[in-house]
Amino acid sequence: PDADIWTSLFHDLSDDDRALPALVDGTTGDVMTYGELVGRAEAFAGALAAMGIRPGDVVGLHCPNVPAFAVAFHGILRAGATATTLNALYTPHEIEVQLRASGAVAHVTVSPLAPQSIAAAHAVGIADDRIVVLDGLDGHPSLAALLSAGHAAPDVTIDPATHVAVMPYSSGTTGKPKGVMLSHRNLVANVAQCEPIIRVERGERVLAVLPFFHIYGMTVLLNLALRVRATLVTMPRFDLAEFLRVIQDHRVTFAFIAPPIAVALAKHPLVDEYDLSALRTVFSGAAPLDEQLGHRVADRLDLEMLQGYGMTELSPVSHAFIRGEGATTPLGSVGTVVGGTEDRIVDIESGDAIEPPEHDGLSASGELWVRGPQVMLGYLDDPEATAHTLRDDGFLRTGDLASYDADGNVHIVDRLKELIKHKGYQVAPAELEALLLTHPDVADAAVIGVRTDDGDEDPKAFVVSAPGADQDAEALMAWVAERVAPYKKVRHVAYVEAIPKSASGKILRKDLKAAE
Ligand code: ATP
Ligand code: MG
Repeated sequence: PDADIWTSLFHDLSDDDRALPALVDGTTGDVMTYGELVGRAEAFAGALAAMGIRPGDVVGLHCPNVPAFAVAFHGILRAGATATTLNALYTPHEIEVQLRASGAVAHVTVSPLAPQSIAAAHAVGIADDRIVVLDGLDGHPSLAALLSAGHAAPDVTIDPATHVAVMPYSSGTTGKPKGVMLSHRNLVANVAQCEPIIRVERGERVLAVLPFFHIYGMTVLLNLALRVRATLVTMPRFDLAEFLRVIQDHRVTFAFIAPPIAVALAKHPLVDEYDLSALRTVFSGAAPLDEQLGHRVADRLDLEMLQGYGMTELSPVSHAFIRGEGATTPLGSVGTVVGGTEDRIVDIESGDAIEPPEHDGLSASGELWVRGPQVMLGYLDDPEATAHTLRDDGFLRTGDLASYDADGNVHIVDRLKELIKHKGYQVAPAELEALLLTHPDVADAAVIGVRTDDGDEDPKAFVVSAPGADQDAEALMAWVAERVAPYKKVRHVAYVEAIPKSASGKILRKDLKAAE
């Protein structure tokens, strides 16, 4: 267990493994075998060392999901450097902020992102010969050029427990994204924890549409799939028709998704036009998945629907369903803790631990805490936030409200920060969003609290209509009112074109609030 992530993924790579496809570009069909991946990543590490990059140096990686991402990512780590991965949608300013904060001394990008990426790298003083443009751009090292230089990977020794392997940023759903320091041990531990539970199999084809720059794609797609010698089929961005075509044409067996994709899979007519019969498993994470919606996906596509829970600070997985046994776990839950991990649900007022109920139903809710080898080292340059989140006893406070069922499955209610306080009651936006999504006229929905004149908060829904559906706010509010306790009534409805979502698939309620 005490190895760096490179060794733990590839130390036992056999000749048979080398010939297997590690990554297939879903758009072009280009294949990279395990042998090619490992050889290229080692040469990339050698090239970085030749550029003067030393263990502990930070390297920016700003790249959508293409096979070369894996070469650069593992090359950076193999060189003993720290990868800070950047959101492919970032503006030059956002890129600059992250490169500056993380102290990056080199940067890796691709030509479609080059205008914003290179400007930002220049702004923090990174010279052109340390800005790699993987697919080539005049004046910058390209992947092909670095590989053909043929440098051997450097000999590096690092302490897996303390050496920062990656600094991904949290999604910025509730505020500014936070730089999260994850050690090699964190990454190795979480892959090992996911392996026996998520059970991605050798040789199976896994859809990689969730971004590798975010911790979910980084661990559960990239590293887990590589560990078990599966094949990642990459997509640089989500587009429903292209998503369905890639699943069909590449005979994808396992798709990791976030709830916005589940909404499309459950409701969109386009889904019926593709042959998705190879797809056996869909695993949702990153945001609340409504139980009924999950069942609709499973029934419509005749497959096993699973769910997991995590956060950047947890590398990311702490709870997940067991593949093959998903039918025994309620889809309204995120399953139980992964191996070597403890959870605790703590009463917000008293601080007392809440126990699973003895019979049917759910326990009272409280804040979910998690302890295990996947808990981050801390936030970058933010001891205050670190101390607030990471307790002295090793438990990480997730900031999420949760309860147990009698089998110990955890049910996430919502984020503590985003609960709506209406007349002294707490209303979870996620519950109302899930209910709204079951209405046939609703294609998508988000709920926030809006201030009233007397200083209270009212639930307000933003609704995207289903194609051709009526927009009758009064009727929709009345429909909700028939189904929830009076304090949870939706009191305002606005019809919108789209719900703002982050690249990792979360509703950006803060953006809706800011526009109020
Ligand atoms: P920030 O911390 O910057 O505001 P973020 O918390 O959205 O952003 P991430 O680390 O990407 O950044 O997301 C972790 C959060 O995602 C969790 O705290 C939880 O609120 C939510 N989440 C993840 N998986 C699930 C799930 N299966 N069900 C409900 N919520 C989930
Ligand atoms: Mg968070």
